[in-house]
Amino acid sequence: MAFDIDMIKKVYADMSERVDKAREIVGKPLTLSEKILYSHLWDGTPTKAFKRGKDYVDFAPDRIACQDATAQMALLQFMQAGKPKVAVPTTVHCDHLIQAKSGAVADLKVANTSSAEVFNFLESVSNKYGIGFWKPGAGIIHQVVLENYAFPGGMMIGTDSHTVNAGGLGMVAIGVGGADAVDVMAGMAWELKFPKLIGVKLTGNISGWTSAKDVILKVAGILTVKGGTGAIIEYFGEGAKNLSCTGKGTICNMGAEVGATTSTFGYDASMERYLRATDRNDVADAANAVKDYLTADPEVYANPEKYFDEIIEIDLDTLKPHLNGPFTPDLATPVGQLGEKAKANGWPLKVDWGLIGSCTNSSYEDLTRAASIAKQAVDKKIKPKSDFGINPGSEQIRYTAERDGLLQIFENLGATVFTNACGPCIGQWDRSDLKGDEKNTIVHSFNRNFSKRADGNPNTHAFVGSPEMVAAIAISGRLDFDPMNDTLINEDGEEVKLDEPLGIELPPKGFEVEDAGYLAPMEDGSGVQVKVDPKSERLQLLDPFIPIKPESLQGAKLLIKAFGKCTTDHISMAGPWLRFRGHLDNIANNTLIGAVNAFNKKTNFVKNQLTGEYGGVPDAQRAYKAAGIKTVVVGDHNYGEGSSREHAAMQPRHLGVAVVIVKSFARIHETNLKKQGMLGLTFANESDYDLIQEDDTFNFIDIKDFAPDKQITLELVHKDGTKDTIKLNHTYNQSQIEWFNEGSALNVIKRENAA
Ligand code: SF4
Repeated sequence: MAFDIDMIKKVYADMSERVDKAREIVGKPLTLSEKILYSHLWDGTPTKAFKRGKDYVDFAPDRIACQDATAQMALLQFMQAGKPKVAVPTTVHCDHLIQAKSGAVADLKVANTSSAEVFNFLESVSNKYGIGFWKPGAGIIHQVVLENYAFPGGMMIGTDSHTVNAGGLGMVAIGVGGADAVDVMAGMAWELKFPKLIGVKLTGNISGWTSAKDVILKVAGILTVKGGTGAIIEYFGEGAKNLSCTGKGTICNMGAEVGATTSTFGYDASMERYLRATDRNDVADAANAVKDYLTADPEVYANPEKYFDEIIEIDLDTLKPHLNGPFTPDLATPVGQLGEKAKANGWPLKVDWGLIGSCTNSSYEDLTRAASIAKQAVDKKIKPKSDFGINPGSEQIRYTAERDGLLQIFENLGATVFTNACGPCIGQWDRSDLKGDEKNTIVHSFNRNFSKRADGNPNTHAFVGSPEMVAAIAISGRLDFDPMNDTLINEDGEEVKLDEPLGIELPPKGFEVEDAGYLAPMEDGSGVQVKVDPKSERLQLLDPFIPIKPESLQGAKLLIKAFGKCTTDHISMAGPWLRFRGHLDNIANNTLIGAVNAFNKKTNFVKNQLTGEYGGVPDAQRAYKAAGIKTVVVGDHNYGEGSSREHAAMQPRHLGVAVVIVKSFARIHETNLKKQGMLGLTFANESDYDLIQEDDTFNFIDIKDFAPDKQITLELVHKDGTKDTIKLNHTYNQSQIEWFNEGSALNVIKRENAA
């Protein structure tokens, strides 16, 4: 699987010098998060202290991981960079495009046919550019990364929000958009606002029905879905040391649910055990040699309030198992109190499904704990009242669990073992037990439970819990079941009680797998042909964007003046459009269809100034493009918030939108616009937003003099011939102006490579 021990040793070799220097510059003891951040600066050894939550800093991540849905556009862009190989070790994982329906064998066969062209494309690009490729069925990106690539003290980025899972092995691992991943693949720096730090002190010990999952379910209840925004959550304390490495992974995984940049734990014996169990003795040895650098300085954990921006303390001795939901992962309720809450809110008490696994909870420990409950159902003759579905996180864990008889225990209860893939966790669940959008309840050990997330049904009430609690609740078939206090009636009419779960941290006979599903790239991939069918509706090779000429910005037309919130979802919707993520022209047909037109408050209904008729935004824009007319999008505050998907910038750019003028930008979207060679500008005077009229023509009078720190003058010509002249601000530095002048950041990289 080729984790790169030399790379890891180099990180550790640099770490001591850089951390020592950072401590000197910052002038105080360092948290683990700061040690990892300061030892991964793009410029090498630190020369200044950064302000948390304020300074934007260039970093040099050690690894990149991409999943199949997001990798398509990322790799299509990387192909434009003119590089023979990725600059940083990268892997692609095929896990999102596999539907769960009948069971692993049949479902995988269907996916391998229905998404064959996408998988073949990803495989050939990976082979050509030195990227490790994990085939469909090999496993879920984050589980595979934890088993093979994550290492204490490392920094990685991944094109998926749950990349943060690798914090369980002491990494700073962060989910990013494809454009960011492409920059790093192409050898550029990766920029991040230096995060704030939240410390979570864990005291006591997990026992009985309480599990690592309950730690994060509790934290989610405290912080809510936004409480971690812009921060790294660092866990510490005796309680942290007593958690398994994979339990730590579960906690970090769901840090995404509180909006945290990432979460991490200091290196300890549990991580060493996991590294050795997953055949990485050399990584464990290397980590042991620098272990003081892989955890915070002792003063930090002794007086955490001095070094973290916020502190949370959780006593694991008294922590109760929780179920969070429905419809949001931060609605935390201790098991046993859910019955009353459900009745008061009209949540169905009958549980139809219990789903175990996903990238969040499919470790050996998770499966053994859940299986110890499932086995009791058979032994105590309790007929389960709900259906069971199992999503192993990787082929290695599936194979090992099958060898050790764990899967058989679930199958004895009639469970369906789905492919080692995301399946029901990402709406890829073809559920046959519902006739329509009926109100129903499911419990699962995944991470997210937003409306429609599992099965597309807005009336499915999904509750998140630990795998063992999911097993118990599913056996009982009732949301108000409390296995710690309640009994069940078995097939002989006897009252029986479930015993506490018993787990095994790591497989006593070791992990085993026949075919892990990994394809190493060729040493020299220059001869590999990447094939994309020109008639494909899902994939399209990209052409470089042509620079926007200053002359074309005289006489530009208004495409839409967006009213209120305009997120990346409004600009490039997800849902059914996901299948076109690798085809820019096809997905461009959803451009801005969710944005509200300020002039009529309708979505996807704008005036085409060429005909005077009203219609869809993409249709109007295609008409302007055909006429060779550049257009302008106007927006409100925080335009482009939400996910970091680069489609929200690439689609308008592809269709001929040249400029976006707003009251304020979400920063990542602003950067994405710059990277795609567009103009992202803000009103110098916010109220000038009100001057924009539906039939306006835009003349960017002095755009020829585009320069850093210099305002741009815009002449607005209204339909009645009157004019307004306003000033626009921008944040382009000289190299970003070059991106604009040359058509895109990728065009610049390509030129530099060719030189
Ligand atoms: Fe994302 Fe769920 Fe897949 Fe994990 S299992 S990567 S959370 S879709």
